[in-house]
Amino acid sequence: NGSEVLGEATLDELARGLRGEMIRPGDPGYDEARSIWNGAHDRRPALIVRCRGVADVLKTVEFARGEGLPLAVRGGGHSIPGFSTVDRGIVLDLAPMKGVRVDPVRRTVTAQGGCLWGDVDAETQAFGLAVTGGLISTTGIAGFALGGGLGWLVRRFGLTSDNLVGADVVTADGRYLHAGEDEHADLLWALRGGGGNFGVVTSFEFRLHDVGPTVFAGPVFYRGEDAERVLRGFRAAAPAAPDELTLAANLATAPPVPFLPEEIHGKPVVVVLGMWSGDLDAGDAATRPFRELAPVVVDLFGPTPYVEMQRMLDPLYPRGMWNYFRSAFFGDLDDTTIGAFLDAYAQAPNAVSELHIHHLGGAMGRVPADATAFGTRDRDFILNVVARSMDVDGFPATIEWARAATGVLGPDAAAYVNFTGEAGEDRVRASYPKDTYERLVAVKDRYDPANLFRLNQNIRPSAA
Ligand code: FAD
Repeated sequence: NGSEVLGEATLDELARGLRGEMIRPGDPGYDEARSIWNGAHDRRPALIVRCRGVADVLKTVEFARGEGLPLAVRGGGHSIPGFSTVDRGIVLDLAPMKGVRVDPVRRTVTAQGGCLWGDVDAETQAFGLAVTGGLISTTGIAGFALGGGLGWLVRRFGLTSDNLVGADVVTADGRYLHAGEDEHADLLWALRGGGGNFGVVTSFEFRLHDVGPTVFAGPVFYRGEDAERVLRGFRAAAPAAPDELTLAANLATAPPVPFLPEEIHGKPVVVVLGMWSGDLDAGDAATRPFRELAPVVVDLFGPTPYVEMQRMLDPLYPRGMWNYFRSAFFGDLDDTTIGAFLDAYAQAPNAVSELHIHHLGGAMGRVPADATAFGTRDRDFILNVVARSMDVDGFPATIEWARAATGVLGPDAAAYVNFTGEAGEDRVRASYPKDTYERLVAVKDRYDPANLFRLNQNIRPSAA
């Protein structure tokens, strides 16, 4: 139990200073509190602190530093490599910190570090506003925004992190700083893509945009045997897509859902899905080139409340499955690439493992490369291989499959830290251009020289 690594007296002292709950091995709720979304990571922390405010975060960071124990920072707990839990260490859980304040006049939202996308979208949509958010509403805003943030508004308004205008941060040495354009601008730059390396972000301020309460969105389903035709058509239509349109093409297996004909359940399908966020009346025409790529199984595109689109995929991504993601940016969906994707698709280890091809560019591509820490903007696509199994059975094989599937884009293809299912310096370096990586190290040296925050896609400081 916790007293193996933490003395009772020290724990009592910490407990007296906290507003939030402390959960230790043996406590009721320990198993629930230690679990994260990805079932592949079953760890046993010595202590979980559920912070209720900045004061709790300051105390927990100081405590972890003093005890010399590994510290896992948890926003929404959707880390795929399992960074938000740790054996015999401390979990700083921000889940109770879910305050959201929208300023409809300045068009900004200030959201605490424990918010999920569903929390933020619900508040901003009361004013018809939004910031680029997650495809799944239960993902945390914190890890998401710090790594970059790809969502259905990315081609129109950029990454989530492109819209980050300020952040409150508790640093490794126990300071509480505001990072903005005018103060600690180096820190703000690093938080926009550099991940959880620089401190605990207790609050995020994002720029908001008018998207209205309704968008033109949906999925259209094509048969797996038409995959080559669909992807070639997707390639042909993509360059003319306006910024208001962000789409992905998923090579998947049809789930047994009532809106799909029974004869296709369990069969390969290509799902082209996404959102038109421009003038609602123009949505049908704007999305049409992507909805006529081959004979259609079902076309569900239509006017859709934004918040509904934001949670449409939630049921497909339940907690507890074993997950491994792996990504690679690429510039052209040429015939060779399509062929390689189709080969990988044919070898998918099970019905829940998929290849997702996201169309990027637009506003995201126009942000200068050195404006933020986010690594790759000059490629129009990213492949995200979502490899899953229900439990440990077959999991190693799904990982091998995902590695091979991204491998077709070459050993040097740039990766995206948030779609990376494992820790490893090579994957981190693959996520940033050399100049950006060096600049990140310099910021890390300034704010966390002893690498207290190392359970993440780690930027190793020079001295550690
Ligand atoms: P957590 O597990 O809580 O944290 C992950 C990392 O962020 C850790 O390294 C932690 O140290 C750090 N961190 C968390 N909170 C803080 C904080 N407050 N301060 C400092 N560091 C912190 N990504 C996309 O870009 N687009 C998507 O549409 C998308 N969809 C996803 C759907 C699912 C089902 C899943 C599992 C992931 C998805 N992702 C997506 C990836 C997602 O961005 C990352 O998994 C992200 O890290 C999740 O953030 P979190 O706060 O939930 O994670």
